Amino acid sequence: MGEIERDQAGFYANAEGYWKAVPPTVDGMLGGYGSISNVDINGSKALLQRFLGEGGTDNGCALDCGAGIGRITKRLLLPLFRTVDLVDVTREFLDQARVSLGDDPAAAARVGHYFCCGLQDFVPEKNRYDVIWIQWVIGHLTDEHLVDFLRRCQAALRPGGLVVVKDNVSYEGVVPDDVDSSVCRDLSLLMGLVERAGLRVVHREQEQNFPKEIYQVHTLALR
Ligand code: SAH
Repeated sequence: MGEIERDQAGFYANAEGYWKAVPPTVDGMLGGYGSISNVDINGSKALLQRFLGEGGTDNGCALDCGAGIGRITKRLLLPLFRTVDLVDVTREFLDQARVSLGDDPAAAARVGHYFCCGLQDFVPEKNRYDVIWIQWVIGHLTDEHLVDFLRRCQAALRPGGLVVVKDNVSYEGVVPDDVDSSVCRDLSLLMGLVERAGLRVVHREQEQNFPKEIYQVHTLALR
C-alpha cells in the first residue's frame, strides 16, 4: 500500500472507530445537538414538499444515506414516501434504527432494506429512488469517493427524482476534524464536486434557525 492509500484507509477506519463508540441516540447522531432535530426536520420537510406532487417528484421510494439510527427516516422520509431504504457503515446504528422505527409497526413495515455499507462502496440500485437523502455524512468521504458516489446516486434516480445533500459548510477551504475523522468543505468546493459528478443544482438554501456557534448548514437539491 502506498502512502496515499494508507492515509485513505486510516481516514475511513478512524471514522468507523469513532462512530462505533458513539451512543445510538439522537444526541449521538447530532454531536450533542439533539435539540436542533425538530428545526432540522421541519426545514427538510418544507423543502421536500416543494418537489413532491406538483413539483413532479414521486413519493415512491427514498434512500437515507448515512442514516444512523434512522432519525431522518422516521420523521421525514417514512411519513412522505411509501418505501424507505437505509444505508450506514455502523451496524449498531442500523440495529437501533430497527428498534426505534418499530415504535410504529405499520411504518416500519414500509422499510425496504437496511444496507450496512460505507457510501464509498455502496451502489444504489439503478432507477429505484425518487429521493436520495444524504445528510451529515459527506465529510466522511474523500473528494474522489464523493464525486463517484454522487454519480451512482444520479444513476439510481427515477424520472423526476432528486438527490438532496444537507450538510455543514465551512467559511473557507477544507477544515479537517481529527476527532471523528471527517472534513468540512466550503460551499464553492462542494459545488465544484457536485459539478464534477455531473449533477445540476435545482434548489439551494441555508438552514436559518440553527444555533449561531455551529457550522452553517446548506441544503442542495440536485438531479
Ligand atoms: N444522517 C443521520 C446521521 C448523522 S451522524 C442524521 O442526520 O441523523 C453520521 C452518520 O454517518 C453515522 O451514522 C455514521 O455511522 C455514518 N457514517 C460515517 N462514515 C460513513 C461512511 N463512510 N459511509 C456510510 N455511513 C457513514
